[in-house]
Amino acid sequence: MARFGIGRHTYLCSKPKPRPIPLLNTSALPYVAPMTQELHIVGGGMAGSEAAWQAAHMGVNVVIHEMRPNVKTFAHRTGHLAEMVCSNSFRSDDDEQNAVGLLHWEMRAANGLIMATADKHRLPAGGALAVDRDPFAESVTEALTALPNVRVKYGEITELPSDGHWIFATGPLTSAGLGAAIQAETGAERLAFFDAIAPIVYAESINMDVAWMQSRYDKGDTEAEQKAYLNCPMTKDQYEAFIDALLAADKTEFHEGETAGYFDGCLPIEVMAERGRETLRFGPMKPVGLTNSHDPENKPYAVVQLRRDNALGTLLNIVGFQTKMKYGAQAEVLKMIPGLEGASFARLGGIHRNTFINSPTLLDNQMRMHSKPNIRFAGQVTGVEGYVESAAMGLLAGRLAAAEILGQSLETAPLNTAMGALVHHITGGADAKTFQPMNVNFGLFQPVEGLKSGRRGRKDRYKAYTDRAKSDWQGWLVAQS
Ligand SMILES: Cc1cc2nc3c(=O)[nH]c(=O)nc-3n(C[C@H](O)[C@H](O)[C@H](O)COP(=O)(O)OP(=O)(O)OC[C@H]3O[C@@H](n4cnc5c(N)ncnc54)[C@H](O)[C@@H]3O)c2cc1C
Repeated sequence: MARFGIGRHTYLCSKPKPRPIPLLNTSALPYVAPMTQELHIVGGGMAGSEAAWQAAHMGVNVVIHEMRPNVKTFAHRTGHLAEMVCSNSFRSDDDEQNAVGLLHWEMRAANGLIMATADKHRLPAGGALAVDRDPFAESVTEALTALPNVRVKYGEITELPSDGHWIFATGPLTSAGLGAAIQAETGAERLAFFDAIAPIVYAESINMDVAWMQSRYDKGDTEAEQKAYLNCPMTKDQYEAFIDALLAADKTEFHEGETAGYFDGCLPIEVMAERGRETLRFGPMKPVGLTNSHDPENKPYAVVQLRRDNALGTLLNIVGFQTKMKYGAQAEVLKMIPGLEGASFARLGGIHRNTFINSPTLLDNQMRMHSKPNIRFAGQVTGVEGYVESAAMGLLAGRLAAAEILGQSLETAPLNTAMGALVHHITGGADAKTFQPMNVNFGLFQPVEGLKSGRRGRKDRYKAYTDRAKSDWQGWLVAQS
């Protein structure tokens, strides 16, 4: 049994029992040469399926290019569109207090196929939206193939065309051939094959009576640069206890077929600790060039550094702390860091097989490539993470591409919606140098003025975010009707 998680949610990922699933009759789908005004969508997963549905409903002819079942991945089992590869959960359905629940709401309001089908095949799961995976994928496939202006063409695409309108939504397991084409277009360093996610903390949950702001050796020309890092000091005893806990913590394994390649430059902290008890003190936890402003006379034995993860400054990542510790263990171990005892995590760390592009440098806010504006990217390959976020980016890309084909002008999603917060993060808000996949969370939202910060004000704050988002999202939809 393996685990895969999104943000604070961990999914138990038992291999679903294989049952024979009829494949589609692909021979009945003749190939028609691409026409400029058709929309070609590469990848019929969560994002590609939703993009196709949206564009088709706006009156555009759509061709979905899906490589399965001809070309397989290690995680998919069928030839269906929108196959859920692991957990069957769409996470929280609470649209007032949870950012992913708000994304559900926005997609439902936009006639989203993925949400409507998930609702149809809902399983009991408390406040979460769990889905009966096989009927779900079958229904999505049927709904799309029933549309007169959607065709599915089964085959792998291995190039980035210069003509026509394209959306690439090939997901975390983008085929190797296409990966090579993307690297040739963007440069090798702008396409990652593994994520290396350091845990992300809500800034407001850090105890600033313990932590302080300072860049190593006060480097930088401006005060903002000289205070770019948040530092958490450790005594020798605290460091030794932390190393013990790291070594003892439960770790996750890679899925079969996922295998190595991740070691280049992103060792998990627990692997560093296994190499020697002092390794971290000479690596990401080195205490040099820092003076604790709360206790200048005492040099810390080790220091954990955090750095802004978004332009708003509401999220901070723990520098160099990518990890394969299981989520429960991770939260426990990280809260041993002085200053983080009461930390709330926007997402916990992880390392997974995950192909994604450096969207902040490669895409505009319409999700088009700067270098090839006839191509959009959508879904997990853009650096969002999860079924819901991927479908959401598909919904947006589908509408934006269709509007462009129809000669309509359509702004990207409003900033204060969940959809807008996410697309803004990947195409501009995130730091390109440290860009790693992101799930939707309230840390991506602009603050609502005049509301109490901290844990006490959280309920009112989240309600204000979701109210504002719903109103802005409805405004965006109405403007298109
Ligand atoms: C092992 C694993 C476990 C996961 N577990 C979870 C989980 O439990 N919960 C969760 O929310 N998310 C999970 N994810 C992430 C999840 O897969 C994505 O969030 C979601 O499926 C992404 O949607 P997508 O449409 O971007 O990609 P996908 O749903 O993967 O769809 C991409 C499609 O593109 C096709 N494709 C790829 N390359 C080509 C090509 N060159 N030409 C034509 N077609 C191509 C693929 O066959 C696939 O059908 C997991 C990912 C992996 C790899």
